[in-house]
Amino acid sequence: MYDEQAECGRLTELLGQLGEHLDQFLLFEHPDAMKDADSWKAALGGALPVSGIGAEQVITEMGAYLIPNGSQIPNPGCTSFITTGATSIGVLATLSGAVAAPQRLGLTAFNFLEGLSLQWMAEMFDLPVEMKGVYSSGGSVANLVALGAARQWAFEQRGFDPARDGLQAPCRIYASSASHHTIHRSAAVLGMGRNSVTAIPTDKQGRLNLTALKQQLQADTSKNSVPVAIVANAGSTDTGAIDPLLEMGKLAREYKIWFHVDGAYGLPGILDPQVHSLYDGLSLADSVTVDPHKWLGAPVGIGATYVRDYGLLRRAFTQEEASYLEGSCAEDDGGKNSMDSLGIPYYDFGVELSAPSRGAVVWALIKEIGRSGLKDRVCRHNAMARQVADQVRLHPNLELVLEPSLSICCFRFVTDQYGDLNELNRRIHRQLVKNGKNIPSTTLFDGILAIRPCFVGARTDWHHASELVDEVIEIGTQLLSKRKTQ
Ligand SMILES: *Cc1c(COP(=O)(O)O)cnc(C)c1O
Repeated sequence: MYDEQAECGRLTELLGQLGEHLDQFLLFEHPDAMKDADSWKAALGGALPVSGIGAEQVITEMGAYLIPNGSQIPNPGCTSFITTGATSIGVLATLSGAVAAPQRLGLTAFNFLEGLSLQWMAEMFDLPVEMKGVYSSGGSVANLVALGAARQWAFEQRGFDPARDGLQAPCRIYASSASHHTIHRSAAVLGMGRNSVTAIPTDKQGRLNLTALKQQLQADTSKNSVPVAIVANAGSTDTGAIDPLLEMGKLAREYKIWFHVDGAYGLPGILDPQVHSLYDGLSLADSVTVDPHKWLGAPVGIGATYVRDYGLLRRAFTQEEASYLEGSCAEDDGGKNSMDSLGIPYYDFGVELSAPSRGAVVWALIKEIGRSGLKDRVCRHNAMARQVADQVRLHPNLELVLEPSLSICCFRFVTDQYGDLNELNRRIHRQLVKNGKNIPSTTLFDGILAIRPCFVGARTDWHHASELVDEVIEIGTQLLSKRKTQ
């Protein structure tokens, strides 16, 4: 019953209907999805539809049962994940790509923005000038692409082509124990194995311990394995700690090892003058990753990898030419038509062929508020974490677990009237989640269970920080008095 005629010109009207439901959702006046899951499951579910109900009716059902039962992640008080709610322009740019350039390929304005936005981000985040980027679905794949480049480089130095011929020797990757698990998974997918990742301990601030790294490198020099990469966090996921980039970069040079900086979360932090110097050493990086779907407020599905040499990426990830693809383009004709060329062959620089136009989204995000708007956001969020730390220092029942580096602050409720403080803080966290206003996550730092807000959402503002601390105090105090009266 798909009606081609009726499809023409429908988006204006349907978008209007959908937009109302989405704006309503963003007020967060609805109950949490799990309050009454049976009713929406019944309404949305049922048997395979034999005949359709039409687009309007689908949108009505979306508005009634689907959208209001979505995620807490876009809730401005939800500071639990680093991925966050997308900004409106990010959503709309994504939609534009879905309609007007379903592939990033071709000589289109969308393809042009793929390269331009990567360049803008490189400039905004002070990456080495020769660095070039490629988009992928997020930090997981961005790290995979970076480590694929590292693997290619390490083996080429020794006269092998690992992408073509496979691995000729066991590999070693050095990363702090606070590194993201996608580093290990990348090592597994790239054939090096999760065990190739050597965990270097962290110091009291959650940063990689340099002495331990030096000792490990020294001890490994005689080993018959290939050192593939030294991986640094520019903002670790659990605490936001920034590893000593300059010293790690120098060690990487000294030992002729690829230096990868994982800035999936924290790279935009470089915009904050108060922490800018922590990024010294970024200039020594051979690869850098950043996730626009975190601090930049893009819809989930956008990560970026930067390297100095596209040639290396191509050798690491090329899919051999296909007659139906490159073969059907005619660049020699002068490129007069958008179908005459595939544009920059991003599909050879990563693991995706079909991929959405992500560049237009990042372009729109930057274009809307500029570098200064993004800088304001990053500075505000970092300052909010410091404000939480200040509030914590002032209260006798709160303890700072770790001084914030970026926009994450780890703290906990303390008292000598409750035995297991980890259990107490876990209970406080469960109550925060139940209340549904301020929803941080928790993390374990040095065996201590900390309440961990991570401020990254564009709609997350000062009052969310202070309200969270107040609520922790309130719940902690209530739990204590309950215990006394029991
Ligand atoms: C979030 C994160 C990742 C993984 O990114 P996804 O986009 O979730 O795949 C990798 N590294 C760090 C440091 C991160 O914070």
